[in-house]
Amino acid sequence: MDLSSNLHKNEYTTLIDKQKTFFDTHQTKSLAYRRDALIKLGDAIRKYEQHIIQALKSDLNKSEFEAYSTEIGIVLKEIRFVLKHLHTWARPQKVKTPLTHWGSKSTIYSEPYGVVLIIAPWNFPFQLAIAPLIGAIAAGNCAIIKPSELTPKTSEVLAALIQETYDEEYITVVQGDVGTSQALLNEKTDYIFFTGSISVGKVIMEAAAKHLTPVTLELGGKSPCIVHKDANLKLAARRIAWGKFMNAGQTCVAPDYIYVHQSVKAAFIIHLKDAIQELYGANPLDNESYTRIVSDKHFTRLEAMLHEGTVIAGGHSNRDTLRIEPTILTDITANAAIMQEEIFGPLLPVLEYDTIAYVLEEIRNRPKPLALYIFSENKEIQQQVLTQASFGGGCVNDTVYHFTSPYLPFGGVGSSGIGNYHGKGSFDLFSHRKSILKQTTLFDIPFRYPHLKNGLKRI
Ligand code: NAD
Repeated sequence: MDLSSNLHKNEYTTLIDKQKTFFDTHQTKSLAYRRDALIKLGDAIRKYEQHIIQALKSDLNKSEFEAYSTEIGIVLKEIRFVLKHLHTWARPQKVKTPLTHWGSKSTIYSEPYGVVLIIAPWNFPFQLAIAPLIGAIAAGNCAIIKPSELTPKTSEVLAALIQETYDEEYITVVQGDVGTSQALLNEKTDYIFFTGSISVGKVIMEAAAKHLTPVTLELGGKSPCIVHKDANLKLAARRIAWGKFMNAGQTCVAPDYIYVHQSVKAAFIIHLKDAIQELYGANPLDNESYTRIVSDKHFTRLEAMLHEGTVIAGGHSNRDTLRIEPTILTDITANAAIMQEEIFGPLLPVLEYDTIAYVLEEIRNRPKPLALYIFSENKEIQQQVLTQASFGGGCVNDTVYHFTSPYLPFGGVGSSGIGNYHGKGSFDLFSHRKSILKQTTLFDIPFRYPHLKNGLKRI
């Protein structure tokens, strides 16, 4: 181990110890404290709104509209939702007691874990750091956020906002790269919430295993989108183009590739081209509001994928501005990288199928996706897809929108993740459910004791 990581280790040991000591004062557990912390968070986000928008512009060229709707507005809405329901969720929950336990009462108490480590990615760098934080606060935890090094301006604003709002012994941001993340992971925290890639998810789980720390992994993968022959093609094309090309395709729940019924493929592609033009204009590379690719490395990876099929729309790119046009590709082979890796960019392969059974078989042969979308007017087809494919969550006749409902717990399954959050899901995720049986002392039922046979024994 080199000296710098030793320094890191000491620095983070102190920080985590400070948070543990503060947690042990029990202040964060009071409902009033949690509510106050959430109100302060909302106020701070509103105060920093313009700084966040500018940082997102600088890091990813996000438009003000996308920055507000997908990063700021969404977390403000989540704070309001949690504030409205927290007193109900936090209440001890009385549950039934079996007759065999006569005389006693049963209650489940939700208690916070302690110090939560939140490791966030770069694609929605504000939202994906704050949304888990809301759950961590609601449940009464302390928190350390490690944002992504690939979006440094947003990380700076996040750090400033948090520092101004909370003492570091309660909530803090630690900026840094992979080394910082690993140094934090070396320490024992009480919960790890990670959003990022599958490969790093495995590293996180291994690190968590060393301390037996519970972990949530919000990962990615290839999310399929099926367009059946009876779908409303125009609407499907618009909703798919919106979900795919928002944030230049750098969205964990973006439709990764399309399976369209062969009988409507040509018509669907015409609608898809129209929808792209409607959303981004005839020349998206000149559209000021079009998000850029996060880094040169990702740009190079995506550019190589452009050559893995026939480009039938888009296909142009600009390395200087790191932008790639919304692109539709056909004639893709199953073993091409674009069909093996999560694309995470504005490239949309369109494959065709004859029967739904074939598509479902193809999907089942791949790792379980984070999302799946089915466009069809036929309830039986919808039901067949929903019951025969395993995936984190998704939509019927839409894309991405399930992510934004606080009533729908969000998360993956299999290699797309472990655990669910959003709304009450976040409160539950960051709470340990402590089951308590409160026993009477007025009498004692003897059946459980081997030496007493019959009746009640007066104490
Ligand atoms: P990433 O896994 O490369 O990085 C995420 C975080 O982990 C960053 O903070 C990074 O510093 C840290 N990290 C990277 N390598 C590490 C290592 N070896 N050890 C410890 N920490 C490490 O992910 P990314 O590129 O930032 O994000 C893109 C991925 O995230 C995509 O796969 C996407 O699908 C997924 N994602 C999932 C969700 C979801 O909600 N399920 C949301 C957004 C993104």
